[in-house]
Amino acid sequence: MASVPADTPPWLQGLNAPQREAATTLDGAVLVLAGAGTGKTRALTARLAEILAHRRAWPSEILSVTFTNKAAAEMRHRLTAMIGPAAEGMPFVGTFHSIAARMLRRHAELAGLRSNFTILDTDDVLRLLKRIIIEAGIDEKRWPSRQLSSHIDRWKNRGQLPSEVPKGEAFAFADGRGAELYERYQRELRTLNACDFGDLLLHMIKIFEAHPDVLGEWQRRFKFVLVDEYQDTNAAQYRWLTLLAAPSLGGQGNICCVGDDDQSIYSWRGAEVANILRFERDFPDAKVIRLEQNYRSTPHILAAAAHVIANNKGRLGKTLWTEIPRGEKVNVIAVWDGPEEARLVGERIERLLREGVLPAEIAILVRASFQTREFEDRFISIGLPYRIVGGFRFYERAEVRDALAYLRLVAQPDDALAFERIVNVPKRGLGDKAQARIAAHARATGLTLPLAAQALVETDELGPAPRRSLADLLAGLRRWREQANSMEQGALAQLILEESGYIEALEKDRGAESAGRLDNLAELVRAMEGFTDLTSFLEHVSLVMENDRTDAEAKVTMMTLHAAKGLEFDHVFLPGWEEGLFPSQRALDENGAAALEEERRLAYVGITRARRRATLIHAANRRVYGQWTSAIPSRFLSELPPEHIDVESTLSGGASLWRAALDERDPFADIGRGTGRGPGWERASARGGLDRSTARKPQVINARPIQSTVGGAARDDLPLGGRVFHAKFGMGTVKSRDGNKLEIEFDQAGAKMVLDSFVEPA
Ligand code: ATP
Ligand code: MG
Repeated sequence: MASVPADTPPWLQGLNAPQREAATTLDGAVLVLAGAGTGKTRALTARLAEILAHRRAWPSEILSVTFTNKAAAEMRHRLTAMIGPAAEGMPFVGTFHSIAARMLRRHAELAGLRSNFTILDTDDVLRLLKRIIIEAGIDEKRWPSRQLSSHIDRWKNRGQLPSEVPKGEAFAFADGRGAELYERYQRELRTLNACDFGDLLLHMIKIFEAHPDVLGEWQRRFKFVLVDEYQDTNAAQYRWLTLLAAPSLGGQGNICCVGDDDQSIYSWRGAEVANILRFERDFPDAKVIRLEQNYRSTPHILAAAAHVIANNKGRLGKTLWTEIPRGEKVNVIAVWDGPEEARLVGERIERLLREGVLPAEIAILVRASFQTREFEDRFISIGLPYRIVGGFRFYERAEVRDALAYLRLVAQPDDALAFERIVNVPKRGLGDKAQARIAAHARATGLTLPLAAQALVETDELGPAPRRSLADLLAGLRRWREQANSMEQGALAQLILEESGYIEALEKDRGAESAGRLDNLAELVRAMEGFTDLTSFLEHVSLVMENDRTDAEAKVTMMTLHAAKGLEFDHVFLPGWEEGLFPSQRALDENGAAALEEERRLAYVGITRARRRATLIHAANRRVYGQWTSAIPSRFLSELPPEHIDVESTLSGGASLWRAALDERDPFADIGRGTGRGPGWERASARGGLDRSTARKPQVINARPIQSTVGGAARDDLPLGGRVFHAKFGMGTVKSRDGNKLEIEFDQAGAKMVLDSFVEPA
């Protein structure tokens, strides 16, 4: 940077030559294709400053698309720091959705809406679709609204109106009635003066196509168009961009898109990497700029990420280098199980904090949102403040709250709020009318809601059907209350979720999210297993919910890999790198080889979020639906370059046994040798690893019904008083037995409850 002239404006200072080219080539199309951390977002921000500083456009004449509203706020903030108040009032800096909504308010009538239209959330959409399905005389149980909703999303992501839905696809729903229902839905939305998220862009595209004058007005307005995270745009978004900017359609052609094909992680939302290739066709004179210097991560982190992503076939390929000093190797740690994983991460974070690292510089990135639970629980017990970004905290998720409401009612028969929440969840014919009766009875008699309900079933005030189903619910609650003390808490929750019909209702609901909801419930069951009684569990939950008082700066961040795009942290923990969990078996089942490549891109995104240190963790055992299963290290671990990683294991006695299960091989013996599947995990997979009771393929986290598993057949080779060996706790003596659980007095570790499949007669 020695040759930078003294009068270089501050926003260009420090940029390297290609970054500066991206920031200052204002006329024509520019495509910046570059790896993680190469300063794409920074160059894009400098470009905005350059445009404004040279008065090439007013703030309102720039369209700048970011990945989240938070990223937009960040961009505004940085701009203001760079060029002062000139950056204020940029109405068209935001996400595709927020910008399109703003435009649509102005032209609502062209889409058959009024400008004060409402934007429906997912729940509203589902309710509406359900009504439409039923009114069309279709069996909603067989053809659930969630399924229709994902079809409609897909069509909208492609910019297709009902009349444009491909014939074959309309058949995917209700024997060929998909497009017709989509049509009814759109009509209904118009009557309601409402639209869904997909409509925001779709309406604008159709308005532009039908009204050249409107399109012309916006084309003249937007002198510059900028797009961050370009690799994740879908067909509708791309169409909208080209309508606004492509010279062949009348746009001004000054467009700059920055992206990284290796970070495309939203194909499930219709994102198409092919847009990158299409760009050069729609903007034929586009200048393509590549950035290769990474300013974020240490060489070890970069090398680790580069090795993993090199296993993908469908990529443009690029090199990355950095001048940042070596730093520490990427840490790969094997732990015994999920609780230990949380304990270890908690300890490492506390150590970092003692060393003066700020909590805001630490993140835990998970593949599936249910994974945060174990960390939330642990962090509460050690008093470590955390926040969950881009999602609800575990105990706040709707299905978890429903389940908790049942549990609260079992613990506390008078809990009226909990009763209200679940009286008709799942649907059992106790709708508004029945509920109003119960409430009226409660008011008249001064009884609490649950007691009023009890009194009411003994009268004939309710019709026979609601009366029966209310009686059933109340009988269930009484039964569960009786069982609560004699049952293991996890098993109790499982029983309640099954007998109440909650699980069944979720399973029938084949929507995009129901599998994740089942996972969350399974996680809740798992969370309860450590507790001796319901009250202490519920108390623990309220403590977890309390923990939201400190400000964001003082908190460790937890989020999914998907939400972490574009962000960076000094220290990144990546737990759960096990086959089935990551790569996600569900994704692989649905999309095969293409999904594996997308999972690998997620791994790349995850590792490259780290500035100074990345810690990858995998557990030897996971509890899945109450059953311990041995987990197999993620294949992505075997793709890491050995010279850039430090392998650690907290498995002491257990390590040797686990390794024996892996055919006497170090589980990491194959790390970095060759690509893809190392023989280590293949063999482990074939043998089912440690736990002989469940010879299991790595299909860990599939959405299956929760099976009642606690209290399986007990083994008879472990008599009371007998000596046993446990992989983690060593030698011990059996004290008592409860189903397949043993109380063992370990010589070193003291008394513990363990599952019998985890011990051997000594
Ligand atoms: P991602 O692909 O993850 O979105 P990116 O390419 O957008 O990454 P940025 O977030 O813009 O990268 O930059 C990564 C880090 O490097 C930031 O902390 C940024 O401030 C810093 N950085 C970018 N360019 C330079 C530069 N020329 N000199 C010093 N630091 C830089
Ligand atoms: Mg970026």
